[in-house]
Amino acid sequence: MNKVGFFQSIRLKFIIIYILLLLLAIQVIGVYFAQQLEENLMINFQNSINERLELLSYNLEQAMTAERTEEGPTLQQDVQNILFDFDSNDIAELQVIDNKSRIIGTTNQLDQNLIGKRITEYRIKRTLLLGSEDVRIMLERERGDRTLVMSIPIYRNQEIIGAIYLEATLEGIYDQLDQINQIFANGTILAITISALVGVLVARTITKPIAEMRKQSQLMAKGDFTKKVKVYGNDEIGQLAVSVNDLNDQLRRAQATTEGERQKLSSVLSNMTDGVIATDRKGNVILMNEPASRLIGYDFEEVKGKNIIDVLDLTERIKDIGQLHKEGVILIDFSDENQDLILRSSFSIVLDENETVDGFITVLSDVTEQEKVEQERREFVANVSHELRTPLTTMKSYLEALTDGAWQDQEIAPRFLKVTQNETERMIRLVNDLLQLSKMDNKEHRFTKQRVNMVPFIHSIIDRFEIQKHEHIVFKREIEDEPIYVEMDPDKITQVFDNILSNAIKYSPEGGTIVIKTHNDREEITISVTDEGVGIPKGKVSKIFERFYRVDKARSRNLGGTGLGLAIAKEMIDAHHGHIWATSKEGQGTTIIFTLPVSKWKRGKQQ
Ligand code: ADP
Repeated sequence: MNKVGFFQSIRLKFIIIYILLLLLAIQVIGVYFAQQLEENLMINFQNSINERLELLSYNLEQAMTAERTEEGPTLQQDVQNILFDFDSNDIAELQVIDNKSRIIGTTNQLDQNLIGKRITEYRIKRTLLLGSEDVRIMLERERGDRTLVMSIPIYRNQEIIGAIYLEATLEGIYDQLDQINQIFANGTILAITISALVGVLVARTITKPIAEMRKQSQLMAKGDFTKKVKVYGNDEIGQLAVSVNDLNDQLRRAQATTEGERQKLSSVLSNMTDGVIATDRKGNVILMNEPASRLIGYDFEEVKGKNIIDVLDLTERIKDIGQLHKEGVILIDFSDENQDLILRSSFSIVLDENETVDGFITVLSDVTEQEKVEQERREFVANVSHELRTPLTTMKSYLEALTDGAWQDQEIAPRFLKVTQNETERMIRLVNDLLQLSKMDNKEHRFTKQRVNMVPFIHSIIDRFEIQKHEHIVFKREIEDEPIYVEMDPDKITQVFDNILSNAIKYSPEGGTIVIKTHNDREEITISVTDEGVGIPKGKVSKIFERFYRVDKARSRNLGGTGLGLAIAKEMIDAHHGHIWATSKEGQGTTIIFTLPVSKWKRGKQQ
């Protein structure tokens, strides 16, 4: 938290403003007061001088007009006496001039020699001539002293008989003014000091709540909404404090809501099966959920801040981030040697309140299974078309040959007709097999299960095959004697045996042995059919249960196979909750093994 220094604080500003306002007020009062005081003192001083001058003027007039005798005092002596009586501290010099411009008396001891001499002063001359009073304030240059200089006429019956010249020092008044100003200055300093102290206290009452609110807002910015500011009153600052507290409450509620939403979002994100990756407007990853990290095989920390195009390995298909949204949905192959993985990624943009792109959301879903099914479906359609086209083409060419005249040939015609008959039968078989598979796919196939003892059941099937006596094949039975009961649909399991045994016969050499073996472990019965035939190459053994898969296509077709027998067998064993698989060594023979769960019901009674 930044601390505000005293010199930047609002408190100092308050104090400075107070003092400046106070100084301004004192200054205005001071100037007005000093001017008025000076004016009044001057007027009073002049009035007192004037009053005294009136008396002096009267006395001088009497003296100047009095009859003079030889033995009586001279005019100068009389004037001098009057002047001495008149003399006072504030009057620096007083001269009396007769109407002939001669000085007849002065109070200045040093100027006594001037008595009887004519004055040259222009202003006195003017007073003597015109009777005009002259009043001036003169400033002495060197010491800066101010002096009141007056020259007034002395009348007798309207006739000017002389003049009085007076110099009175004004320093007394200005000393008084200086003293008053000094008192005023001291008062000002005192007032400023007191108001500065009061200002500190007053400013504190304003700045304290502000400082508290500042602290509170800093806490709020850090996400701490536990504290509240104190409300000191109902003024603007008090109301501001109430507003700050309200804001605090609202922010706390908003934050709680946001936090709740965030947690909801995060639990939705982590519990959904689809992967979600969010990026900023440049496409750099800012969020990724657990399923996304599982699908792409990177932790969030590994891809954080990296570009989505690099993360999803789309650099070859996508040049810039804007293209992602245009593409909408992209299938990405993440398969490696260990597993197949195809991801469907759909991209959408996030807009901010100004409708500009703020980021991208990528939803990843694992569509490996869907793609596989789709692929299988495509392959299936291709296979069916292919399987039907071959016999149809054969039939077409044979029928064309017959139409072209071969029907007349007694030797060729029956052979050609036999071929078309065989192909027709093969197509019927194929269609029947397909129908059967399709029914099982759609779960339409009904099983009528019953409890069957497997031992006589297997023997009867082998017996049937022995009666047909295929190419001198020898059937060897390694079948346990103890009855083994299985809950099953006998027709369907017969079909399974027929498929496996006919394959064993088909791929066995002349005089080969086929071993039929059972093993009962009380939980399930394992039945194996082993031949000494061509066998199956190692990598292809597991594939023989796939639809239309044939190791040797031409051979199988020649032997009348559809490539669907083992696929049907597998579906049927699965429907009986068993397993089927094969082991084989190329050139040495093949073993087809399947299991069926043993029925435990009434087992004791049956035995
Ligand atoms: P088909 O009608 O072609 O026999 P199946 O589904 O019954 O179709 O068998 C699939 C393929 O598995 C056959 O084409 C064959 O290549 C192989 N196969 C099945 N049984 C044997 C066996 N006993 N010996 C060798 N190959 C076999």
